[in-house]
Amino acid sequence: MTQDQWRLCRACAVLFYDGLHGTGVCVASPSGHDGSASANYALAHCDDDDIGEHGWRWCHVCQQLHFDSLRAGYGGAGWCPATGGRHSSQGSRRYSLFCSSAGGLPPGTQVGWRWCEPCQSLWYADTSGGNRCKNGLPHEATRDYKNQYSLKQV
Ligand SMILES: [Zn+2]
Ligand SMILES: [Zn+2]
Ligand SMILES: [Zn+2]
Repeated sequence: MTQDQWRLCRACAVLFYDGLHGTGVCVASPSGHDGSASANYALAHCDDDDIGEHGWRWCHVCQQLHFDSLRAGYGGAGWCPATGGRHSSQGSRRYSLFCSSAGGLPPGTQVGWRWCEPCQSLWYADTSGGNRCKNGLPHEATRDYKNQYSLKQV
């Protein structure tokens, strides 16, 4: 089962959910995330035996997709631009992503997505738009996990 209405923010480069609570909170745009130049992306809800990387959740405060590292037992900051604290996974479904180290990247999906260390969010590294994370710095791929991700466009 999949859920669409996920979009790339042209101001900060994260993936965010655009289908429910408006445009969330964006570190680079006072009016929230900007999906105006984005494709429509569909994410898979995961069952335990799904191919792909598990542990991804939706933050209902900022609307970003993030890796819930606390739940997965890693620690990690998971900086939320809305609160300055951790992202919330409250009310989120569970998502699995196509990942280079967990089943591979299927043909026909869009490559170039990475996992950011400071914010634990999925961001698009090949964007010509803005790229902004904590403290005005750009997103930074996780040091220990050089995973590549890909997304399905609908
Ligand atoms: Zn944004
Ligand atoms: Zn958040
Ligand atoms: Zn980041």
